[in-house]
Amino acid sequence: MAERQPLKTDFRQRKRISVNGIVQGVGFRPFVFNLAKTLGLTGTVTNTASGVAIEAEGSGVLLDRFITSLEEDSPPLSIITKIEQEIIPANGEPSFSILPSKSTTKVATLISPDVTVCNDCLHEVFDPADRRYLYPFINCTNCGPRFTIINSIPYDRPFTSMADFKMCSACQSEYDNPSDRRFHAQPNACPECGPHVRLTSETGKYLPTEDPIEQAASLLKTGHCIAIKGLGGFHLAVDATNESAVQKLRQRKHREEKPLALMMKDLNTVRHYANISKEEEEDLLSIQHPIVLLIRKNDKVIASNVAPGNDRLGVMLPYTPLHHVLFHYDLPPLVMTSANLSEEPICIENSEAFNRLKGIADYFLIHNRDIYLRSDDSITIHLADKKRIIRKSRGFVPRPVIVNSTGPPILAVGGELKNTVCLLKDNLAFLSQHIGDLENLESYTFFQKTIDHFQQIFETKPEMIVHDLHPGYLSTQWANEQGPPLFAVQHHHAHLAACMAEHQLSKPVIGLIMDGTGYGTDGSIWGGEVLIGDYSGFNRFAHFEPLPLPGGDAAIKAPWRTAVSYLQTTFDHLPTLPFLDEHDFNPVVEMVTKNINSPQTSSCGRLFDAVASMCGGRQTIRYEGQAAIEFMQAADHLNHPPFEFSISKKTKPVIMMIAPILHSIVKAIENDEPFSRLAGRFHKTLVNLFHDICLLAKKETGINTVVLSGGVFQNPLLFETLILGLRRSRFTVFTHEQVPTNDGGIALGQALVGRQHLKEALCV
Ligand code: ZN
Ligand code: ZN
Ligand code: FE
Repeated sequence: MAERQPLKTDFRQRKRISVNGIVQGVGFRPFVFNLAKTLGLTGTVTNTASGVAIEAEGSGVLLDRFITSLEEDSPPLSIITKIEQEIIPANGEPSFSILPSKSTTKVATLISPDVTVCNDCLHEVFDPADRRYLYPFINCTNCGPRFTIINSIPYDRPFTSMADFKMCSACQSEYDNPSDRRFHAQPNACPECGPHVRLTSETGKYLPTEDPIEQAASLLKTGHCIAIKGLGGFHLAVDATNESAVQKLRQRKHREEKPLALMMKDLNTVRHYANISKEEEEDLLSIQHPIVLLIRKNDKVIASNVAPGNDRLGVMLPYTPLHHVLFHYDLPPLVMTSANLSEEPICIENSEAFNRLKGIADYFLIHNRDIYLRSDDSITIHLADKKRIIRKSRGFVPRPVIVNSTGPPILAVGGELKNTVCLLKDNLAFLSQHIGDLENLESYTFFQKTIDHFQQIFETKPEMIVHDLHPGYLSTQWANEQGPPLFAVQHHHAHLAACMAEHQLSKPVIGLIMDGTGYGTDGSIWGGEVLIGDYSGFNRFAHFEPLPLPGGDAAIKAPWRTAVSYLQTTFDHLPTLPFLDEHDFNPVVEMVTKNINSPQTSSCGRLFDAVASMCGGRQTIRYEGQAAIEFMQAADHLNHPPFEFSISKKTKPVIMMIAPILHSIVKAIENDEPFSRLAGRFHKTLVNLFHDICLLAKKETGINTVVLSGGVFQNPLLFETLILGLRRSRFTVFTHEQVPTNDGGIALGQALVGRQHLKEALCV
């Protein structure tokens, strides 16, 4: 039977398709070009102000397939936020071509994060016949540096730190060829024309060597500490199987016990040292290549001082070609820690590194491609079946969080510790990379630079600056210096809003915010809060019983002080517990009873500290959260009975009482219950208490949605068990996935709350 000939007009259609999102500088036009060729479509593709514009012509079926493929098979670095299409008259164009960018229109496009070297490039780097054999700066449109080398927009070579390197003719022809993997790859380079590495002594003197990377590898093997310039900054590297090399690094860096991150050659090596799930494996291999916190195996090979007293190892795989070439020389797992003194930002410039790392690094492996913006390694952990971001930096930034709010642009300046800032533009929230602790002058400078840079690369002038309610935070003071319009957001309200924002929630929720410390609306220190609210505002439904924190910060560093204070306040006489033998506690008792420098706090983090300490755990800490982490790891299981607890409904807000818990704990300690059981029972107590308080909140408000936020939810045992319990009681539970649950995420919440306020103010 003869096929029915389609009418000519049916057969040939032309569509104008506009694609928005991260679609420039990520190989999107070559992808479109090749896709169109494969499907036999004709037409054009070009960059526009808002993304990419395509005109495609062919049969309706193929055009549909083309559009589906645009979404489903787009290049790894691209993010499509919107595709629009319309039918236009077919014009019988004979071929498909890439048109030059419309330079008259200003390009407002999204910038890609830095991306791990791709497999195609790796293949070339280890191919002795390739012209980039062992060349540590190989990259293509699918991989390589982006965010950290961009000085200004548009994302074109003259505005990157590759500006000084003029492409050789071989590189240029790749760059100009639409069917080449390096078509418009801005950092494209080769050994002829690109950057180079050099090895220097500790004073910055060049060491003549044929192969600086091979030489660095052999120095690492003999126990030396090498500062290695990477993508977003310098690392300090030592052999992770060499205890004395690790110890030397710790002493020099003034980092006593905080776990150090590791880099391992490949997935097989990681499997040797840690138990990894399929999801963790995918995460290690993702385009971000973060540090993943993995449950360690009982090996004897990784030096015990890499992560003392910790059941997890922070591990990443090599992510730049330089790392791969380094590991090519048969290196053991390496400690790869940010090159800085404790809590300072990571070094990025060669001269800065020689200066700041004097006396820390034995040698420097440097190169001449500048880093414009610092970016630490990102850190993730897999909990409750999902990837959680503990530190959001390299690979993730500046990928936006898409929110369900539009309105005026807002700048939110975050908290004080683990600071990040957030620029909210339309429905895109650009959370900055990890900036760090602002008390540190270098971090504060970095904070200001990041704010300027974000406003520039996203071409946004905020209509309002939003900051924390704490008047003493340096971020608050900076905001005040900028002048109005300003808006202050309570710390835990920001936590609640951040979790709402990333899940695009808009109706009021129950916010279970379990945190270290944050400034309350009554001037006291909050931190164990149940808030009912949304972006517009909140009601403090419940909180932990406030107790005195003797000496403020001093108590944070010495949990035993908090333990003494909490016990002294709860009991008529300080119960004689074994942990007290170690301390001169009378001055603390006096501070508490006379109310000297002992602010009241409802902090959940401090409760953890106090209980861990009185049960015989950490008395003083060497890094944030250490007492709680070790207490959590000691817990054997949660099948024990909880300690007694109660919720006092007499007052508004409702109070989650601590006194009955402490009475019950003291009894258990007097009965010689082992530390592991005490730890298990305490976790069980909090799980039950939080569950009950959510039920109460639901009963009084009718709200069934719970958001969890705050640093305490980095505790895997508490977090996972609580989620299970809440879900069993049919709560809809939302937790952080795109931004950290710690203070690294609050700028997102601040921004949304600020915008809501501004919108409401404008309506009045
Ligand atoms: Zn590549
Ligand atoms: Zn070249
Ligand atoms: Fe917080």
